[in-house]
Amino acid sequence: MIDEKPVAATTEEVVAELRKREAFVMVSHVKPDGDTLGAGLALGLALKRLGKRVHYFQGESIPRNLRFLADADLVSNVVPADFPSDALWVFCDMSDTGRAGETLPQLSRENILDIDHHLGNAHFGALNYVLPHECSTGTCVMHLLRAMNVPITPEIATCLLTTIMTDTGGFMHSNTTPEVLMLSAELIGSGADKEQITEEIFANKRFPALKLLGRALGEAKMAHQGRYMWSFVDDAMLAECHADGEDTEEIIGYLRSVEGVEVAALFKAYDGEIRVSLRSSGRINVQAAASRLGGGGHFRASGLTYVGSLPDAIAAVDAALVAEGL
Ligand code: 5GP
Ligand code: MN
Repeated sequence: MIDEKPVAATTEEVVAELRKREAFVMVSHVKPDGDTLGAGLALGLALKRLGKRVHYFQGESIPRNLRFLADADLVSNVVPADFPSDALWVFCDMSDTGRAGETLPQLSRENILDIDHHLGNAHFGALNYVLPHECSTGTCVMHLLRAMNVPITPEIATCLLTTIMTDTGGFMHSNTTPEVLMLSAELIGSGADKEQITEEIFANKRFPALKLLGRALGEAKMAHQGRYMWSFVDDAMLAECHADGEDTEEIIGYLRSVEGVEVAALFKAYDGEIRVSLRSSGRINVQAAASRLGGGGHFRASGLTYVGSLPDAIAAVDAALVAEGL
């Protein structure tokens, strides 16, 4: 069988391209998290220090708990009219351009750099710096900054440590390798504010989020002899708790943490769509399960958008998980 796995760009190729271009647009994915934003902001801050022009593109608003990041106030979905047409659009932390949302302008491939750590990245750029063994897209960016010899300022370090702490669940997930801890130590040495990241991202929960967690846990169901746990959040539950989508983040972790649970799913049926979050304890590949339904992600953490009713979504996800060995 021919190995059709696409070849990733080398660090040297990407650095040469970053040096060559004068203007950049950092693109983050919809429902932005600390990795997609932190990686783009860190690279943008560094490129600005090299005298380059940088814009940050995001189709939605920045979640409350990420607004402390440097330059987060400059992120918008409007690219200045005079922005050079040969700007390089740098996509951070997404497996395909669709994840950038519907407000993304039409782009030609030659102006796209894809930086990511997802399994199954579509290699949609002219250059694809896709390193699936990295814990975050931010550590991919860190390798580029090191190769470019750009000084890591405290602001850049905080953005990069945010990507690591987000994607390792505060150093708890299995992707927390010795190298990740060494990179983190280096970032803290460069002035990354670990306390602020902990405070803003992990310890700053709103009361509505707590009430919503209680509601969702109350609806939780177990299946497959206790190996699968799932729950949902809908518009009515959000309204009842005075909560919004940002307040759902913690729920899936609680479902997954139950003894004996191998896979957890949270169905987020609000704002006219059904988003599904999947988490695995390590036996079942939830990236493969999500891919069966048009989504993606990582072996242990994935997601998808389901078009249809909530009962159909629940049945389809169950079937996809069974097909992956649940
Ligand atoms: P979350 O459950 O936090 O929304 O997503 C978990 C992981 O799955 C993240 O790494 C995220 O990038 C990925 N993911 C979530 N939704 C989608 C999707 O619709 N498509 C793809 N390709 N990946 C997704
Ligand atoms: Mn990521």
